[in-house]
Amino acid sequence: MAKNRQASALKRESFVWPAPDKADKGFLWREDLQWADPSEEFRSRAYQLPPFLVWNPEIKRRRYVAVLEDAQACFLRFARLAGPDTPEQREAIRRFAGRYGFLTGGRWVAPGAGGEVEPGESLHFWRQEIQHMAWAVQVLMAMPDPKERIDDELLRRIIWWQRDRVGYILTNLPREELLRFRDAWEVFEFVRGEYRRTAKGGTPEERHRALFSAGWLAGVGKRDRIFRRVVWGALRRPALVLLADFIAKKLAEYPVALRIGMDAEKGELRSFPMPANLLSAMWLLLYRVVAGEAKLKKCAQCGEWGVAKYSNWRMHPECANAERQARHRRREKGGD
Ligand SMILES: [Zn+2]
Repeated sequence: MAKNRQASALKRESFVWPAPDKADKGFLWREDLQWADPSEEFRSRAYQLPPFLVWNPEIKRRRYVAVLEDAQACFLRFARLAGPDTPEQREAIRRFAGRYGFLTGGRWVAPGAGGEVEPGESLHFWRQEIQHMAWAVQVLMAMPDPKERIDDELLRRIIWWQRDRVGYILTNLPREELLRFRDAWEVFEFVRGEYRRTAKGGTPEERHRALFSAGWLAGVGKRDRIFRRVVWGALRRPALVLLADFIAKKLAEYPVALRIGMDAEKGELRSFPMPANLLSAMWLLLYRVVAGEAKLKKCAQCGEWGVAKYSNWRMHPECANAERQARHRRREKGGD
């Protein structure tokens, strides 16, 4: 009981993010809007092109999601949106936004010069951010717990060892297909060919398959101190460096501030993280799993992965809620 009261007291001093009251109707895709944002920091030209995701003007009421407490697995759901640019993917993105809100709060878009502006986020922007999260989660799932066994079969096709340095290759190929290659170098050769082949066309599926990201992590003058401590061919530490790079880059772009507040129960000061937006909250949630502060577990109700902050975690909070309601309905029915 005391724990519950404390949790709600802390909730008032924690990150909440606006989402529409009705998740399935809260957002719309609009092709007829134009970029109208004066800020220049948004580098990518593609981010300024329609379609844009905007609030449905008919749904006025907002919910506030305590993302860090009540939606700890949302970054896994976000990663699962990855895929070819199809109508199904747009619908899945629209539903995700209906559940958790905008990624950043949106940029100004308008129906034409002089038209009324409203916040919107482009499909290109969403697809780019989903892809990055999907790649980070792919690496995370290959090493779900630092103490448990890692999926070294998969990591061997991601972490790329040469004589004097170590790097990575991330692709959208499914695990069973990746395992057909001997090592990360063969994966790179293959996907580079696919990328060249689809550069001037191809279906959305082919273009999605051909996407990759590759780079060096350590060695030859880069991160010597880390590199000297790694045994040649090791997988776990380079994978951790790769995840650290991902998280650091994203949190530099979408930061998390540290707030100081009063713990009403204890009468003491405490610090808590305040993400700038949903994106930084999701990368913070991923960081907590990588750092071992939270664990990935399979939900006893829906069977999907969830983030467990406590050792007795059994299911997603929303699944537990649905189960409670179902039990309640059964009891009422039985009473009749
Ligand atoms: Zn569940």
